[in-house]
Amino acid sequence: MHASPDPTPDSPDPDRLAFSEDDAPPPAPDPDERFWRVMVVDDDEDVHEATRFALLGLRVNGRRLQLLHARSALQARRLLASEADIAVILLDVVMETDDAGLRLVRHIREDLGLRRVRIVLRTGQPGQAPEIPTIAAFDIDDYQVKAEFTRVRLQTVLTTHIRAYVQLQALEATRRGLELIVQSSASLLRIRGLARYAQGVVTQLCTILGIEPEGLICAQVEDARVDLARIVAAAGAHGPLVGRPLADVADLAVRERLAQCLREGRNLMEDGVCLYFGQGAGRAVAALVNAGRPLDATEMQLLRAFCANIAVGFENVAMYRQLVELASRDPLLLILNRERFAERIDGLQHQRVGKTLALIDIDDFAGINDAFGPRLGDEVLKAVTDRMGRTLGGRTLLARVGADTFGALGGARLVSPQGIRAVFAEPFEVAGERLQLSASAGLVRLDDGPATAAQLLLDAQIALKRAKRGERGGIEYFSAAAGNEARGRRQLIHGLRSALRNGGLSVVFQPQVNLASEAVIGAEALLRWQDADGGWVAPAKFISLAEQSGMILPIGEFVLRSACAQLGRLRELGHTGFRMGVNTSMAQLRSPGFLAMLAATLAEAGVPPQALELEITESMAMDDAEALQRLLAGVKALGVGVAIDDFGTGYSSLAQLHRLQVDRLKIDRAFVQDSSTSAVGATLAQVVVELGRALGLAVMAEGVETQPQQEWLLSLGCQEGQGWRFARPMPPAKLESWLAERGGGTPLV
Ligand code: C2E
Ligand code: CA
Ligand code: CA
Repeated sequence: MHASPDPTPDSPDPDRLAFSEDDAPPPAPDPDERFWRVMVVDDDEDVHEATRFALLGLRVNGRRLQLLHARSALQARRLLASEADIAVILLDVVMETDDAGLRLVRHIREDLGLRRVRIVLRTGQPGQAPEIPTIAAFDIDDYQVKAEFTRVRLQTVLTTHIRAYVQLQALEATRRGLELIVQSSASLLRIRGLARYAQGVVTQLCTILGIEPEGLICAQVEDARVDLARIVAAAGAHGPLVGRPLADVADLAVRERLAQCLREGRNLMEDGVCLYFGQGAGRAVAALVNAGRPLDATEMQLLRAFCANIAVGFENVAMYRQLVELASRDPLLLILNRERFAERIDGLQHQRVGKTLALIDIDDFAGINDAFGPRLGDEVLKAVTDRMGRTLGGRTLLARVGADTFGALGGARLVSPQGIRAVFAEPFEVAGERLQLSASAGLVRLDDGPATAAQLLLDAQIALKRAKRGERGGIEYFSAAAGNEARGRRQLIHGLRSALRNGGLSVVFQPQVNLASEAVIGAEALLRWQDADGGWVAPAKFISLAEQSGMILPIGEFVLRSACAQLGRLRELGHTGFRMGVNTSMAQLRSPGFLAMLAATLAEAGVPPQALELEITESMAMDDAEALQRLLAGVKALGVGVAIDDFGTGYSSLAQLHRLQVDRLKIDRAFVQDSSTSAVGATLAQVVVELGRALGLAVMAEGVETQPQQEWLLSLGCQEGQGWRFARPMPPAKLESWLAERGGGTPLV
């Protein structure tokens, strides 16, 4: 047996001979008509003829058949390689070889992986019928003896197997579709990728439905608001519309049809299918599918599953947005948090004119918390939020930017000193308590220029700080001057920080003498800062800043180390009686590790504690006398001396001075320098000296510039002095040569 190369009358070329249309093709072939494709493989031309004749006019599920003819197993293979979607193969067993048919079956099932195509074996004689195990092994669906083929029989066999094929195909499509949907559901959780996800699923769905990827677009509606419908999935050219309102769909026909479907809440089957998937509670999805043919039940089911999934995905997006929204709100007060507030300010763009930003800080909120407990504190904040919302108007944006600091952004008329005062005018009733609150506020007008939210909030903060300088309830607008000042301070802190890191700080020493003999008794360590331009910055300008910014801690430690190192070196040079005064801030004394650091520094430098004296200002001594007493007791216990600096400028009482166990009073240089011109200055200096004498303390005069001042101080009984009359502050090397010039070591005093 061999393949018949003979061309059939309607297919002259052996490679094309496989095709023959239904015997009576319709006069005007419809290119969209779908056929069931049936392949007849037989080396007997008569069988082809008979089959063609037997199947003439057969329709299964409304479709006609299209026969493909192969005259050998080889030809069949070629055909299978190029033709898809074959429903049934009527296959002769014995062709080129006795088992050519069975080998072809194996090729179809295993090599080509075609599992759905129905294979009906046909044998010449009953004796050639394959054994049952063969049928099973080769995945053959049926076999028939050719002789038994009547027209009716053949039609029945084909009808049965085509239906089986359809079912298998539907199952397969459903399985694939469901698989796809399940797979993509997993990625639904990664919500950010939803647009891309939707795109991908839509594209694949189009593949399953066998339609162009242009042909699918889904709109979702909520609360039955068709005017607010959004595109939730779309393929091809419509893809970029995902997430956009239905109204953005440029294609009028598409837009209208989706809207109609959603409005009427039903499937529209005429002119392109638009399917309606109601989900209850006014939610629905409409899917416009341009398949160019009616969809079958399986396809509809797939679409339904798809739309449900898409909807779930978008519900997740909505939930995610809600979560984000929640995360951007203060959980207690349910107003915006600082970050979100800043975002909204930045988002204003060109709508800034006429708007004001305020930071509103409740005065002494900590006191309320302490007195009534944090629970009531929370209630107070809620009440204030409430009142603010009502007083500052519904369009004013409120935020909680700090524990008890609110942000308000709104029209300049409402967000104003009057508006803010109105909020706190009446007492607040909270948990049975009537609280009269007040608040300080810093305001910034947004009109001028495109400052960022961060800058604006900072400006408001600066204004708020100034407002808090005065009494409670202070309200200030930000001014350029205040801004410049604050900016200047920030720059200064920045510069100071890098000076500390890069060796821009140094310590100079100003000798102190016995006023009568002018013998050197010690020196005061004074900090110097040479900025990046080489200029000197006065300590008066940066010490208080360092104290406010906390930088005084590392800086103070640096001064202390430098002073002790210098002290150690001088002692090596023989100046064993030399004493060193080091200015010390309250913040330093208060820092937990201070005493340990002090002891370690002394030990490291190898100097006795008695050679060191901490100078603290009188105003410090007054501020928190009890705390200071405790802290100084520790210093004294180490053996380190204490001097009260700038004495006479504060109002410390005798009893306080006594308790503080100080060793020395330093008369402020203002009184020394005023002594010649002002009676008050002179009197004060006199009082200090007498006070010192009464308490048994040493008294040192600062700022001694002239001989008359020196003599006058001596006449008062002041024993010690420091000032330009004796020496200016000088760097370590100069101090050493200066001491050497004056000759000899310094005696112990
Ligand atoms: P202070 O402790 O009262 O220091 C004495 C100040 O008077 C020094 O100014 C010194 O240079 C200046 N002075 C000394 N003799 C004369 C004089 O005869 N006439 C005049 N007109 N002034 C004289 P300086 O160095 O500018 O220091 C200013 C202030 O800065 C110091 O006042 C002190 O309160 C603070 N300070 C300096 N160094 C440090 C430091 O290391 N730590 C801390 N916490 N404060 C420091
Ligand atoms: Ca044969
Ligand atoms: Ca001092």
